[in-house]
Amino acid sequence: MSNLEDLDKLDHRSPVVEQSPVVELVETTGHSSGADWLARYSSSLMGVFGTPQRVLVRGAGCLVWDADGKEYLDLLGGIAVNALGHAHPFVTSVIASQLATLGHVSNFFTSPTQIALAEKLLALSKAPAGSKVFFTNSGTEANEAAFKLARRNSGSPAGEAGGKPRTRIIALEGAFHGRTMGALALTAKEAYRAPFEPMPGGVEHIPFGDIDALRNAVDDTVAAVFLEPIQGEAGVRPLPAGYLQAARELTSQAGALLILDEVQTGIGRTGKWLASEDAGIVPDAVTLAKGLGGGFPIGALVTFGEKTSSLLTAGQHGTTFGGNPVATAAALATLHAVENQHVLDNVRAVGEHIRAALAAVDGVTEVRGEGLLIGFDLDADVAPAAVAAALDAGFIINSPGPRTIRLAPPLILTEDQADRFLAALPAILQTAKDAQ
Ligand SMILES: *Cc1c(COP(=O)(O)O)cnc(C)c1O
Repeated sequence: MSNLEDLDKLDHRSPVVEQSPVVELVETTGHSSGADWLARYSSSLMGVFGTPQRVLVRGAGCLVWDADGKEYLDLLGGIAVNALGHAHPFVTSVIASQLATLGHVSNFFTSPTQIALAEKLLALSKAPAGSKVFFTNSGTEANEAAFKLARRNSGSPAGEAGGKPRTRIIALEGAFHGRTMGALALTAKEAYRAPFEPMPGGVEHIPFGDIDALRNAVDDTVAAVFLEPIQGEAGVRPLPAGYLQAARELTSQAGALLILDEVQTGIGRTGKWLASEDAGIVPDAVTLAKGLGGGFPIGALVTFGEKTSSLLTAGQHGTTFGGNPVATAAALATLHAVENQHVLDNVRAVGEHIRAALAAVDGVTEVRGEGLLIGFDLDADVAPAAVAAALDAGFIINSPGPRTIRLAPPLILTEDQADRFLAALPAILQTAKDAQ
């Protein structure tokens, strides 16, 4: 299953609910409605996510269905995660057969899928000799590992005269790098940080996209600069042209690491393997997660070159689940399909089509992004209301800001599916405005 026509067929599967044996483990009183489930949710799940929008029970390709049988076109893909849509037959069968063969071994052992995936990530990243991979279960963990890597770039060798310690780490305003403490220290949003002060020390946030600010910040007291090529959570904001090249030059001169967070932008999301690919630079490290496992949890820190790859030594970092046989098999299966040029061509073509159409929609003031990571601004603060109206109309979208909508659909979204949403959008925006 590796060409787009075959992938397309997934959406044409019958929408008849296929009962999974899991149903018998979770149903207590026969068939439950979405409202029944949400009542159970609110009395059993911690409130950090608020009330979930819907209870989803099944997916196929770019479609999902909720507990009440309503169908949705998924234009968010689990936030850039479901690269091949839902229930992709090849990924599903690879995961099932790996689990039925060898599921977990701990990192006292390794497995062929782990090794093959590391080799594949290095090849796809065009990483030079000596480059290495560390596997995690999520994006935040990949950035935690990168944070620890940065701490190991601590300055001149002990005892060397005149050496200053590298205690500073630079990140950008608007940055999102995750929710665990190290990644949270790199994340800019005050509302996420303030309840958990003090943060791990040394992180400074400088103005987004401002090369002069970067030049003023980066000197030989800086251990690393963390950048997202396109800030996803901030509303799909691409770094200006030339910024990554300037960052590479400044960090190289200062001996600081350039660490790119491609957790959201990597794995074909922008129509390329990495969003940073066209910048023509070699970073010191890249973090990956979201799309990597096609819906199965896995993340990775890729370090470039011998020197950076040996900063973390035996015993200095670890994980129980990271890189286990099932997760790495899921990623191998996903990459096999995403690598297929048909999928990347589809990402570019459908992405272009959506952006061009959005620019002509009344009430849309700006359209941003690359491939199938798309952000657009509205002429009023109605984005959350538009998300609700879209759901009622059968579309899953997301609002990272009060007047910003984000789309990050499966990479196999067809132009016809995109057109269904584009045709419905004016009415969705009108409903959102009427609701104000
Ligand atoms: C989602 C995201 C993370 C965090 O990943 P989790 O898997 O949610 O921990 C980090 N960086 C970026 C750019 C992201 O989009």
